[in-house]
Amino acid sequence: MYLMNPWMIAAPPALAAAAAGLAGYGAAHPRSQLFGSTLCRTNSPRKLALTFDDGPNPAITPKLLELLDRYKVRATFFVIGKHARECPELLKETAVRGHVIGNHTDAHPNLFWLKPDRITVELRCCNFSIIAATGAPPKWFRPPFGFRNPWVVPAARELNQRVVMWTLLPGDWRATSSEWLIPRMEPIAVHAKRNVAAGSASGAAATGDILCLHDGSHRQLNADRLPTLAALEYWLPRWRDLGLEFVTIDEAVSAPAT
Ligand SMILES: [Zn+2]
Repeated sequence: MYLMNPWMIAAPPALAAAAAGLAGYGAAHPRSQLFGSTLCRTNSPRKLALTFDDGPNPAITPKLLELLDRYKVRATFFVIGKHARECPELLKETAVRGHVIGNHTDAHPNLFWLKPDRITVELRCCNFSIIAATGAPPKWFRPPFGFRNPWVVPAARELNQRVVMWTLLPGDWRATSSEWLIPRMEPIAVHAKRNVAAGSASGAAATGDILCLHDGSHRQLNADRLPTLAALEYWLPRWRDLGLEFVTIDEAVSAPAT
């Protein structure tokens, strides 16, 4: 335990509790920078970055690729290494269509409990599978469950990867219907309307959303993510009509939209 939480050694109970609270915040809050610098937003209120975790998934990803093509959306897929080895052709197809592939570890462990050498193995094994399928090393990493410890960001940096979090996590892996999920994705439209109303005048938000959805499951291949697809069918035309531009994480950090 103390290997992972050295600041808690021999601390008085109150201090230890405060440190545990702080560590919990640093480990789990998507925009915490306590354990190293992470990318949490796009660089323009007009840019919306769609991200999909836990694939590739033969039951859902092909349908999702068709849907994204229909609306000319380029997105970012944070894939699990063990799934990538099951369906390398699907991963290659995702990259060929212009989407960005990111690392989401090999077996989806909670990295908070892992020592640096195990974290590095998780990242390297996933990298290897992505390179085998697509020919290119990923530039982005998303930790499973969003959990970090002091070694996650440095381990990713060593592999020339930046850690990507999100502004909105609607919990689509729990969705049993699109009726449940659609309202949980409403904040994207609320932000877009507010920014349009504010115009480009000073005071308008200078950043945009990164939405975290799931086309797969870390538990198994072929997970049902149909509510996610249906919710996107609902929102994609509406987001487009609000003037949002769909960007990959590469584009989320490039020159701002004008
Ligand atoms: Zn995940």
